[in-house]
Amino acid sequence: MNAVSKELELPGAFMLGAGAVSAKTAGINGELMPLVLTEAEGRPFVNGSYYSTINPVDGKCLQEKYSDRFHDCDFGLLANLYACEGKPGTVIEVRACRRTGELSLVSCMRKTMEEHYKEKSVALGGTFIIQKGKAKIHIMPREFSSCPLNTDEDVENWLRHFEVSAPFICQTVMVSKDPGLDLRVEHTHGFSHHGEGGHYYIDTTPNTVEYVGYFLPAEFIYRIDRPTETHNVGRD
Ligand SMILES: [Zn+2]
Repeated sequence: MNAVSKELELPGAFMLGAGAVSAKTAGINGELMPLVLTEAEGRPFVNGSYYSTINPVDGKCLQEKYSDRFHDCDFGLLANLYACEGKPGTVIEVRACRRTGELSLVSCMRKTMEEHYKEKSVALGGTFIIQKGKAKIHIMPREFSSCPLNTDEDVENWLRHFEVSAPFICQTVMVSKDPGLDLRVEHTHGFSHHGEGGHYYIDTTPNTVEYVGYFLPAEFIYRIDRPTETHNVGRD
């Protein structure tokens, strides 16, 4: 993330979002909830990230503070990061309760922006809390798949799914419409203070769910290390 902040010409950036644990660092695969103040001149980085892996003892979720185990601020595979100066300012507050359709909070917000802004791409990043209710998440297994995952179904079968409880703190990065950069248009990871964390899909308690979130539109979208060959498997 220090290297990313330099690429963005925003040294010392504050970053949040959704990514994967660096297997080089951790020796295993897992979900990363990045929350980092990157290094700046005269100041080291501060890593407040959480990560979750499959507990080899019981096959359940194991969420830990990243800095309790590791001392870098790397990530692996991919990350969707929202970077800002980390200063206070005006933000967009979103409050929602009860879900009446099939879409998650993030998909509702993204599709609403897409319908309103049409061909123009609008990106938002921020944090929201599931204050009441439960949500569906996944965590990648500790070991990478020994065979290629060629379809969404292959990916779903490989992933481990769990239901987590409020309060659950989510970090999201979304873009209303891919401006031709081969982006994942929404990606949300969440952590909690009761040991649950991972990749958020949707709440599982539509009648009782409550959300509050704070977001800010992006000024720029950066695509770093874009793959030369692409596919659409596993982007949900
Ligand atoms: Zn994810």
